[in-house]
Amino acid sequence: MSASSGNCLYCEKMLHGRTDKKFCNDHCRNEFHNRQNSCSNNYMRIINFRLRRNRRILSALLSAKHTTRIGIEQMHDNGFAFDYFTHMITNEKGITCFFCYEYGYLKHGGQVIIIREKKNH
Ligand SMILES: [Zn+2]
Repeated sequence: MSASSGNCLYCEKMLHGRTDKKFCNDHCRNEFHNRQNSCSNNYMRIINFRLRRNRRILSALLSAKHTTRIGIEQMHDNGFAFDYFTHMITNEKGITCFFCYEYGYLKHGGQVIIIREKKNH
């Protein structure tokens, strides 16, 4: 509740006048928000890149097959990032399958079983 002014969130110059001001002017406000957006866009770009690469790897390994098995080490060698997936589905047996878009995998005894999500939507 003090009367002292803050600093502009963008250029960090001392602000005068109203204590709830956050920016010098519209220019600083716009630049600040552009920078925020480009940060989150850049973050999303990296995540999307990893998800797409994962999908591409799963798709290539599965090829035209219904299901396929591959060693976890081999998945790592292919550049697969296990931490990145779009969603997960746990079946009635309590087995969780991790998906990268329509391609999924589950870990089983040092191997990975790759499947494709049933298309019902
Ligand atoms: Zn400013």
